[in-house]
Amino acid sequence: MLKLLFADRIENWPAYEPALNAALEQAGIAAKLVLPPADPASIDYIIYSPRGPVQDFAAYTRTKAVLNLWAGVERVVGNPTLTQPLCRMVDEGLERGMVEWVTGHVLRAHLDIDFFLTHQDGVWRQTGHVPPLARDRSVVILGIGALGGACATTLAGLGFNVTGWSRTQKTLPGVTCLSGATGLRDALSKAEILVTVLPDTPETTNLLNAETLALLPKGAAILNPGRGTLIDDDALLAALDSGQIAHATLDVFRVEPLPPAHPYWAHPQVTVTPHIAAETRPASAARVIAENIRRFEAGEPPLHLVDRSRGY
Ligand code: NAP
Repeated sequence: MLKLLFADRIENWPAYEPALNAALEQAGIAAKLVLPPADPASIDYIIYSPRGPVQDFAAYTRTKAVLNLWAGVERVVGNPTLTQPLCRMVDEGLERGMVEWVTGHVLRAHLDIDFFLTHQDGVWRQTGHVPPLARDRSVVILGIGALGGACATTLAGLGFNVTGWSRTQKTLPGVTCLSGATGLRDALSKAEILVTVLPDTPETTNLLNAETLALLPKGAAILNPGRGTLIDDDALLAALDSGQIAHATLDVFRVEPLPPAHPYWAHPQVTVTPHIAAETRPASAARVIAENIRRFEAGEPPLHLVDRSRGY
């Protein structure tokens, strides 16, 4: 019988235990779930979270893989004690959450909903406030992998003029796909609404800085549900103050929780949400974990194996 260590926060155990047991049974895997502390030398697989208790993998000599419950791997990918294969989470529930958060906030920016929420004062402001149709609104998504790609096709399905940008060239139905440095400039120059769904890697750090923010059309809106490191915060605050960027909706930050004194909290053109854009959902995530264990045990290529040289 395989021994699986559940190395997430203990408060997540009541939701994950039944979901994992059901998924393992359905996949025909005989396995026992255990909690830390457990003898590291007895563990076949680690179900891992960056917020969990296991961050040193050296003693897990028998462990065949570390299965991350998170999509992002920046906190573990460079861990020198990790010699086992690392898989990240690509989960239908996580994807749906990101699509819904991004679609909601894109529509909010597109329809200028905040303006009307803050102007309920008896003045009939029709002139200049009829929004364009979605097809006349350019939305750009930086990062069109599992999450950004689903957001791009959903927004294209709503009629938006969607451009996606990635490291390698992609093809997505209804989406103009760009890549490379020239592609980034072309994408940014038309981004009335910009969404960043990139991973945190050395290449993506401060991708949005004073120079790249200046490429956006004046008055653009930014949504960042990717990672806080994608944005140079001082450059964004300066661009908000100058009016170059009209509004930023930020879900992720360099330091989380965002400290109470951080200027984002009080800035009238910033909306802070507390890293809630997309949560891993136990039922669908458990099926991914079970399928990956089945694949490792059968000697088949695992799903969502992290490329450590790329960092995601
Ligand atoms: P993914 O499938 O690996 O997609 C990443 C995308 O970013 C791919 O299109 C990739 O290009 C592109 N990319 C990476 N490095 C790049 C570079 N240097 N230049 C241009 N494009 C680059 O990841 P995912 O599952 O969509 O997740 C994306 C990120 O969302 C995660 O890493 C995490 O940081 C964030 N996230 C946030 C939340 C939240 O609640 N806020 C929840 C889950 C995930 P290629 O396609 O060419 O590889």
